[in-house]
Amino acid sequence: MKNYLSIKNLNLDFYKITQESNLERQLDKLPKEIKFCKKCVVSNQRPRIVFDAKGICSACNWFEEKKKIDWSLRKKEFLTLIEKHKKNNGEYDVIVPGSGGKDSGMIAHTLKYKYGMKPLYVTWSPLLYTAVGMRNLQNLYNSGIDGKVFTPDREFQRKISLLGLVYLGNHFEAFGRGQMSYPFHVANELNIKLVMYGENAELEYGGTLKNKDKYGQPIEDFVDLYHKGSSTTELIEEGEKIGLLNKTETNHPSLKYYSLPKKEDLIKKKIEFAWFGYFHNWIPQENFYYAVNNYNFEVNPNGRSEGTYNKYASLDDLTDPLHYYLSYIKFGIGRATSDAAHEIRDGHINREEGIALVKKFDSEKPKVSLDSTLDYLNITEKDLDKITEAFREKRPNLWNKTNKDWELKYAVFKK
Ligand SMILES: [Zn+2]
Repeated sequence: MKNYLSIKNLNLDFYKITQESNLERQLDKLPKEIKFCKKCVVSNQRPRIVFDAKGICSACNWFEEKKKIDWSLRKKEFLTLIEKHKKNNGEYDVIVPGSGGKDSGMIAHTLKYKYGMKPLYVTWSPLLYTAVGMRNLQNLYNSGIDGKVFTPDREFQRKISLLGLVYLGNHFEAFGRGQMSYPFHVANELNIKLVMYGENAELEYGGTLKNKDKYGQPIEDFVDLYHKGSSTTELIEEGEKIGLLNKTETNHPSLKYYSLPKKEDLIKKKIEFAWFGYFHNWIPQENFYYAVNNYNFEVNPNGRSEGTYNKYASLDDLTDPLHYYLSYIKFGIGRATSDAAHEIRDGHINREEGIALVKKFDSEKPKVSLDSTLDYLNITEKDLDKITEAFREKRPNLWNKTNKDWELKYAVFKK
């Protein structure tokens, strides 16, 4: 089969490009001294997380605060919001963005069957579908949910992925940007005024508490925040410089979907961004049970996802384990840390169990998914190792090189 992504003749020095890139701007903002939360297992290297004087992270503090929430009051607020948006004219009245996962599927299903809304489930296609992810998406449609999928030109997208990997240490840039932006283009084009997401990740996983009392992200803030830092446009410029992209591609029609629509358009149309998790207590495990019972959601057939012990989260994209592995390289925080931290807060496991899980799974380099991922990016494992090497060198506070092998200087299990 012809491999459309041809980069071999460019002779790119991935190590040098990564070393010289300063587009991953989050790295400079991280605290130099590494600390671990005394309650969960997350460290202060997670971008935007805040630790209090007692050494407790903002996500753990948020979970305590959450216990005081009057959910019946929030339920009333929820009913007011959905009544405001119900159109009753045969048109869709809410967009639920997702790619077949348990959380977004549960939301679309609940909005339709419990609250009588007409949701449109909008999917920005995964970079590489997994068989189980595809089945779950179909299972959701079979349960009576309408869906719309956008699949970008894969050759172009693979190039953006590669640029994201080399310049940002995040090949998922080509997924994440589209996943966030595309639903708002659909909202704008189809005049659907409510876009409903799952949880406010900044609260649930540790980040800014800025919007903790808001049911959604104010559009003005959202667009401004989103366009801060590096953008896909910057990656495209770099891609052109190194000869990976040509002039025609820098003017690609799908490019607009990697960025949000104009702020003025969204404000003029009064399009709202809401979190389902503001109105309902957000417990991933319960979402999983809901999805299994209501639309035959299937778990990872391999038993667990690579890099963690969890079997039901983020199953839709075959290249997903690399995304978490890169987070481990850049921040020392892999997928098991994020999963365990959340489950400790939910009371499903204790801190000791969490620490053991982090020790066992966090550092796991993708194996099962590696060949497909490398093939997708059209690089070799050696190229990938050069890129991760350059990122490790950017974090001298985090990594030590001993006998040719890299070791975390600090880990939650090392005390
Ligand atoms: Zn914590």
